[in-house]
Amino acid sequence: MKCPYCDKEMAKGFIFGGNHIRWYPEGADTMMTFPEEEGAIRLNATGGLVTSARAESYCCADCRMVITPVPEIEDPLAKVKQKWDAFTDRIEQQSEKRQTERAAEQHRKKRDKQRKKDPWEV
Ligand SMILES: [Zn+2]
Repeated sequence: MKCPYCDKEMAKGFIFGGNHIRWYPEGADTMMTFPEEEGAIRLNATGGLVTSARAESYCCADCRMVITPVPEIEDPLAKVKQKWDAFTDRIEQQSEKRQTERAAEQHRKKRDKQRKKDPWEV
């Protein structure tokens, strides 16, 4: 990555932290249980729970600047919700299919009963 200030190649490295490494907007309450509510952005794509967090970063020693690209992080809760939604959709579809089949069966039974009736019977 080129330094946006001096255009020289930046040294690739990482920011190291014990837990997740996050960027917070000015004035955010870092004691919050849910950093997302404070607008925090997680910078480490790996580590953070069992192993120490590392956020890929680039440093320009001349300009005294560090750039940390924001990684794409898959939210495990979003993944579980997606699976749950797919599951409930499938259950709903099966339920609708069963209701349609049941209605068709009742219609057929009613028709058969009418056919068996003696047309001269009063
Ligand atoms: Zn620079």
